Amino acid sequence: MIPIKALLHLSTLGMVRAKVVKVDPLAPDEDVIEEAAEVLRSGGLVAFPTETVYGLGADAFNARAVRRVFEVKRRPPDNPLIVHVSSLNMLSRVASEVPPHVLRILQIAWPGPLTVILRRYPELPPIVSGGLDTVAVRSPAHPVALKLIEVFGGPIAAPSANLSGRPSPTRAEHVVEDLGDAIEMVLDAGETFLGVESTVVDLLSPKPRILRPGPLGPEELVKIFGVDVEVPEHVRGILSDVDRPPSPGMKYRHYAPNKKLILVELGSCGAGDYIDFLVRTLKAHLSNGPALLASKETIYHVKGFLGDAVTYITLGSRSNIYEVAKNLFNSLRELDKNDRVSVGICESFEEKGIGLAVMNRLRKAATERLVCG
Ligand code: AMP
Ligand code: MG
Repeated sequence: MIPIKALLHLSTLGMVRAKVVKVDPLAPDEDVIEEAAEVLRSGGLVAFPTETVYGLGADAFNARAVRRVFEVKRRPPDNPLIVHVSSLNMLSRVASEVPPHVLRILQIAWPGPLTVILRRYPELPPIVSGGLDTVAVRSPAHPVALKLIEVFGGPIAAPSANLSGRPSPTRAEHVVEDLGDAIEMVLDAGETFLGVESTVVDLLSPKPRILRPGPLGPEELVKIFGVDVEVPEHVRGILSDVDRPPSPGMKYRHYAPNKKLILVELGSCGAGDYIDFLVRTLKAHLSNGPALLASKETIYHVKGFLGDAVTYITLGSRSNIYEVAKNLFNSLRELDKNDRVSVGICESFEEKGIGLAVMNRLRKAATERLVCG
């Protein structure tokens, strides 16, 4: 085995491919987790699965390792990382104060896909939170992630393990595509469970405010918090100059395939008119080799009109928005990989629950939006 120090040296020269190790998502092998923890202790980078997407982990207290996370991802330095902890106890090492109402919420919601913004503990390197005096923290509900944090013995700073701007990774292959040459290790536990990144909430403002929509939608948050939740307009993925996002990461174009992606919004159309509108949009692009990214129900209807003139990429069933969320980023990557296709036309979904996050990601990934009706 090559010593980890040597691996680190080679990786800075861009010569090493990450060691990819398969691990059972529900019962991870202790030796594999120990090896990954050792990479983190040596200042290396380990990609690991969470219930949302794969994260790119570094020791949160090692500023050099954290700097490398920004470098390999080509992430703008003002876009802060999320710090991952395995317990409320560990939270006290990254946040300087946790108000009682926040503590009560975290006792209910963690581990889970809820990231909260707290005051940064002064000893946590400022680079982790892009120089802000706040820090984003969550405890992931994935056995591999939790075990890794526990065995490592401290907080792990981990943004999504993709190149900045690319669709987030929901499979280990996606991590290898983007970062395989630049990091030390990938824990491959198959597909992640939810497929979109965590819900980020500011609980320090007078009324809890969603900064990034995620698996927990406003409806679920109201139940967990017991109070009303603010959903700023930018959370829908439509950015205007008068509505600058309070969360640095929300201002960048994101989650985007390399190919042109046209999002077709339902607008005021009924189901039948919407299918007609999709068909007309696809027809206008027939010479470019269009792909339709849509639910199996919509694909069934469109296929009746256009048959094999179009490539079909199935997002799941319209009746199961969780399936759509889980397949979303892989479908955007499939669009890029298909040589016969040069433009994607994508269906829109209801902005309810996790559907709000799906539409936020699609609007940010799209190069163009068309509205029916
Ligand atoms: P990622 O790590 O790629 O899932 O992105 C982390 C998200 O959390 C980005 O949208 C960040 O802007 C947001 N975030 C992280 N730290 C903070 C913070 N201190 N204040 C507000 N938003 C934050
Ligand atoms: Mg990200």
